Amino acid sequence: MNHLVTVLYILAFGMFILGLSGLTGPKTAVRGNWIAATGMGVAVVATLLSVRDTAATNWILIAAGLAIGVILGVPPAKKTKMTAMPQLVALFNGVGGGTVALIAWAEFIETDGFAYFTPEQNPTVALVVGSLFAAIIGSVSFWGSLVAFLKLQESIPKTIEKALVKSASVFQIANVVLLLGAVATAVYIGLNAGVGNATWTIVAVLVLAGLMGLFVVFPIGGADMPVVISLLNALTGLSAAAAGVALNNTAMIVAGMIVGASGSILTNLMAKAMNRSIPAIVFGSFGADGGVAAATGGDQGSVKATSAADAAIQLAYANQVIVVPGYGLAVAQAQHAVKEMAGLLDAKGVDVKYAIHPVAGRMPGHMNVLLAEADVEYDAMKEMDDINGEFNRTDVTIVIGANDVTNPAARNDPSSPIHGMPILNVDESRSVIVLKRSMSSGYAGIENPLFLLNHTSMLFGDAKKSVSDVIDELKAL
Ligand code: NDP
Repeated sequence: MNHLVTVLYILAFGMFILGLSGLTGPKTAVRGNWIAATGMGVAVVATLLSVRDTAATNWILIAAGLAIGVILGVPPAKKTKMTAMPQLVALFNGVGGGTVALIAWAEFIETDGFAYFTPEQNPTVALVVGSLFAAIIGSVSFWGSLVAFLKLQESIPKTIEKALVKSASVFQIANVVLLLGAVATAVYIGLNAGVGNATWTIVAVLVLAGLMGLFVVFPIGGADMPVVISLLNALTGLSAAAAGVALNNTAMIVAGMIVGASGSILTNLMAKAMNRSIPAIVFGSFGADGGVAAATGGDQGSVKATSAADAAIQLAYANQVIVVPGYGLAVAQAQHAVKEMAGLLDAKGVDVKYAIHPVAGRMPGHMNVLLAEADVEYDAMKEMDDINGEFNRTDVTIVIGANDVTNPAARNDPSSPIHGMPILNVDESRSVIVLKRSMSSGYAGIENPLFLLNHTSMLFGDAKKSVSDVIDELKAL
């Protein structure tokens, strides 16, 4: 039986890696997801086989746990709209961290506060250190992800969020104290391993780490959230790997390390794309204090509204048009209309390209997924670094529901809360048409001077409706 379990685990690991490699492109992503999910199914079966003959195995509890997991996991994953997916990911990520913290707690109870060690959990140092590491990181990840969920869901009132961001320095001091407290209590528990520890010790570790999770994410606002989500994801992976070390479970170690490693790489890539250092994000605050961006480097004017007819004429007589999609495109579900508009322009001899900012939308790859769904050619989607040099020779840039990722204050205004974040150089194109419903700010909560430039005009309305109107006008030309 042991050999069968090992073979199944190896099969599962192969499927995790194959699945992950499928996630590197939109064409293979769905298949990759299925392969990885099947791999997880194989790992669950292998784990159940491995505990089959253990007297303590409670099959009713296991079946109940599986049923609850399916009931709570499948319907939200199926029903949640694409625009709310980041919140769901934050929540699922938190559940992973919470589970790991609970496993650590269960190990503590099982061994009477690490007073003794079960034979299959040798070496014992691994059990104690792995459990305590999992308790701290799992708890940070659970509570931090919960705050990230509430922020993405916009459930925290803006006034409270601003106050939290302003109190960043207080939270930073509190976090240092909490971290020292959690580590000191964990060391105390470790030193008493073999003798046993009182329940309050593990509860103290979980509470101190939980408060740290809350306090780390409370003051992080605006444009830094993508990096935080991916950092929390990496932490959940690492805590799962630590729990795997404690339980002597290879599947948990491998799966946890894959999540931890890929999450860390993603965190690094996102931080680089936003020109931010990870410590600056975790220990600083950025982007939610409602600062008003001022300097633009271009000619400032007033807001100029345009019509679908005028926009269509500008687009039809351009040589090159760049489409800049953002979160509003996802809200309006305008991707199919955008593809149709690009097709009409293409038929008129206009060269159409799509500029994809790494954090446009609300999750990494959000725009690629939406545009791929509408069968936009993968080659037409250009990454920020590849397209930024092209804006100054582009006749018309049409910004569809994007805001923060086009804000020139990030480049020109050192006092802007998002200064230093790389943006799409939309303002450099000869003419800019912005499709949005109002003059409201984007996720970072700051004004965008792009909208006031002399060569920018605003086509107000829902993006899908506006693009459809432009399509009608293009057809009539
Ligand atoms: P923004 O959030 O900056 O702006 C989106 C704009 O879309 C809004 O200004 C809104 O204006 C407009 N909009 C909303 N609904 C519609 C609609 N139905 N039709 C037309 N317009 C609409 O989006 P960006 O994509 O430019 O930037 C992403 C932001 O999200 C960045 O700050 C990023 O850091 C952050 N973020 C990104 C994550 C990621 O992983 N990609 C994760 C979490 C946060 P109006 O209301 O006037 O219509």
